[in-house]
Amino acid sequence: MSNMLTLALSKGRIFEETLPLLKAAGIEPIDDPETSRKLILDTNQPDVRLIIVRASDVPTYVEYGGADMGIAGKDVLLEHPKAELYEPVDLKIACCKLMTAGKIDEGQIKGRLKVATKFVESTRRFYASQGQQVDIIKLYGSMELAPLVGLADRIVDVVDTGNTLRANGLVPMEHIADISSRLVVNKASMKMKHARIQMFINRVRMAIEEQ
Ligand code: AMP
Repeated sequence: MSNMLTLALSKGRIFEETLPLLKAAGIEPIDDPETSRKLILDTNQPDVRLIIVRASDVPTYVEYGGADMGIAGKDVLLEHPKAELYEPVDLKIACCKLMTAGKIDEGQIKGRLKVATKFVESTRRFYASQGQQVDIIKLYGSMELAPLVGLADRIVDVVDTGNTLRANGLVPMEHIADISSRLVVNKASMKMKHARIQMFINRVRMAIEEQ
């Protein structure tokens, strides 16, 4: 195992909201991922690097040791229920809710409920816990469209302000889970690089408490 500490994260909201926490842990990236095409970003610390991956790939990189640590939304982690990872810190960033939603003016739904989502695992577990049999339709984005064109009766999606739902004539219905980003750690790395990872965790925890 190399001496390098590799942290996997995704571009956009998670990256932006993670930067202050990294800074508190003494880590500052040299390149900006929004303008650079590099997928491996060096930092001010020669033995720490960041890798930029798709949000839904973060647990995979960390579980198999492509990265020692990663930052992933709980929505993503709930889709990988069997991933062998430690999840030591709730970073309390990128907060939102996983919810069901449907049309404001939905009439009587006949037959089995059709639910479109990219969160298939969470959706399956939620409706199973309600004792309701549903047909789940896997989509990769723009879920709001599905009820509007009759592809599905409901959707399951992450909701922040609810503006996107409302703009499409949908309303949030049932609350499935509170979502925020979590630090995840590879199990072998936690043993082999324990002192450095524990120091990183402690500094990040302190930065969260101070926020
Ligand atoms: P909203 O504020 O509810 O209109 O959210 C806008 C869109 O951003 C939603 O459709 C979600 O797909 C997405 N979104 C909101 N919060 C998050 C989050 N914490 N992580 C990932 N996507 C989010």
